[in-house]
Amino acid sequence: MILSVRDLQVSFPVGRLMNRSAILGVAGVSFDIAAGETFALVGESGSGKTTLARAVSLLQPISAGEIAFDGKRIDGLRGAATKPLRREMAMMFQDPVGSLSPRMQVRDIVTEAFRVHGVEADLRAEADRLLSLVGLSGDFANRFPHQLSGGQARRVGVARAIALNPKLIIADEPTAGLDVSVQGEVLNLLNDLRERLGLAMLIITHNLHVVHHVADRMAVMYLGRFVETGETEAIFQAPAHPYTAALLSANPEPDPDKAKDRISLPAEVPSLFARPKGCEFHTRCPWAQARCKTEAPAAQGTDRRVACHFPLSPGERPPAVQETTL
Ligand code: SF4
Repeated sequence: MILSVRDLQVSFPVGRLMNRSAILGVAGVSFDIAAGETFALVGESGSGKTTLARAVSLLQPISAGEIAFDGKRIDGLRGAATKPLRREMAMMFQDPVGSLSPRMQVRDIVTEAFRVHGVEADLRAEADRLLSLVGLSGDFANRFPHQLSGGQARRVGVARAIALNPKLIIADEPTAGLDVSVQGEVLNLLNDLRERLGLAMLIITHNLHVVHHVADRMAVMYLGRFVETGETEAIFQAPAHPYTAALLSANPEPDPDKAKDRISLPAEVPSLFARPKGCEFHTRCPWAQARCKTEAPAAQGTDRRVACHFPLSPGERPPAVQETTL
């Protein structure tokens, strides 16, 4: 495995607010990513997916659990000891233009990793090679970020990320801020590079179209836990956790008849300060029963894991017709 995460927890100190000294942002998650595989973390904002990605990249301290990269534990690495890892695990940040240094030319941006890691190379030739890999002509090497469109800036960000042939790319909302037509181009580019370079990818997004387009497997996060994990296509065909079913039903559908099938989630997302007892989704779950209010469901299954006492059958609808609120 390129990445193995076990029982990872991330807590945040909160002084003595509401009789607590810390809250759990990530509450014990485990997953693996194999070479050449794309794994997506999905959830509403505040679900913990970005915190989890930052923890995996060692940008956020963890409070418990293990992270192994390419077979070696990395969760204890600090400071300069993380530098070799940065060559093999590259990050792509959300804002395509804002994540590029405004005073650097594209040539210097895409070859920055060579200088940072002291790798000797013909930087001019490397810039041309990297730009060509992401579908940009060599003319772009002399431009500055403000002279790029959002899609071109994202391509430059991808070129920078793949500069030193990393084994894993962590991409936070890779299509954020891009027009729909450009989003498809960027996703095709990521798929293409994954196949050509054998990259593994961890994608963090709330955009289910992105997940469907690029991810082999996915995890759905709610209040810092995985409620459902499995192969993307299988989950899209038949979500088994009610929260997954609600998210998928809220995915904008071109077919107006399908839009009527949306599943309502009536209540607000609970605060991390006051996690509901039992199943933490029971305050919003249309399928909740008495047992759900007292007993937390353990994730069941191997390839497909679902944390629900009453997993859904394919196509199962909520017990009562609801108005759409998600
Ligand atoms: Fe809903 Fe109960 Fe399943 Fe939780 S355990 S998701 S409340 S049915």
